[in-house]
Amino acid sequence: MGKPLGFYGLREAGWRERAFMETQWKRVGFLCDRLRAMLKGAVIKNKSHWLFDPRENAVVFSNFHMTPEVVARYAAVMKERGIPYLHTYPSAAIDFARILKDCDIAPPRFEAVLLGSENFYPGQREWIESFYRCRVYSWYGHSENTVLAGECEHNHNYHIFPEYGVVEVLRENGSAAINEDEAGELVGTTLYNPVMPLLRYRTGDWAVIGPARCACGRHYRLLKETRGRWLQEMLVGKLDNRISITALNMHSAVFDNVHQFQFYQREKGKAELRLVRKPSYSACDTEAILKAFRDKMGDTMDIHLGFVDELMLTERGKFRFIIQDIANETNAN
Ligand SMILES: [Zn+2]
Repeated sequence: MGKPLGFYGLREAGWRERAFMETQWKRVGFLCDRLRAMLKGAVIKNKSHWLFDPRENAVVFSNFHMTPEVVARYAAVMKERGIPYLHTYPSAAIDFARILKDCDIAPPRFEAVLLGSENFYPGQREWIESFYRCRVYSWYGHSENTVLAGECEHNHNYHIFPEYGVVEVLRENGSAAINEDEAGELVGTTLYNPVMPLLRYRTGDWAVIGPARCACGRHYRLLKETRGRWLQEMLVGKLDNRISITALNMHSAVFDNVHQFQFYQREKGKAELRLVRKPSYSACDTEAILKAFRDKMGDTMDIHLGFVDELMLTERGKFRFIIQDIANETNAN
């Protein structure tokens, strides 16, 4: 658990993947001969921290060097070149926006922000749309390539591509979830990997069944919501109780003087809340934050605060609100 599955595939699988992605993005006006800005986990060590990638027809920016000066340069490049699409993760779109805002720099005029590979938390989509003033397009996929599902022109439901993989949503007892609003684990069977086909592969990800039909007229099955690796997205309390990220209300005013935060848990019933403070942060904020969490979680969780300069990203440069690293016994049930 906790390690990505290694697998073999055909060399041309990357181009097939690309064709599926472009098919999805076209729903919000994407054209492959126009540039996109990629901010998705690349480390670029040259002096400017960005470069042009002709294979992707994209300008790739490093996520790992986003100081105010560098972000100001990124924005200038995006504006000079008139880059119409931003392709990134929710957390990076917010991070980039936050620095622009702090530096009083107007955001580049994107036609769409393409967001994949990371969970959306409540309020994030709305915030990103209102900051960049354009449509946010989101999809669900994973590196094992058994499931791909994206939004359409009309709404935010994820349309499952039946020609990509055979997708099941299974309840805990293994039967198929079929009713709208029912949740279950995503299980996928690849349709295009003769080298190492994955059959009924349990993704460990979770989805909520959507309505039967969509106004766009595509006869695809719909999912309302998807969440990655859900066990790690929860804190585990002293009584083995699970506390989900949604329950913690990340939009509370107690975080007004905090840039970013993240929970780090290694032991049941104990978690560290790591904060990147704003200059306006004071001891009163510490008190208010601890009180808010005590009120929510009672005695089931001891929270202590840690002050850091930056938060941890996963190996692939993605952000998670909860880094949970408890021994497997606790995770397995
Ligand atoms: Zn639709």
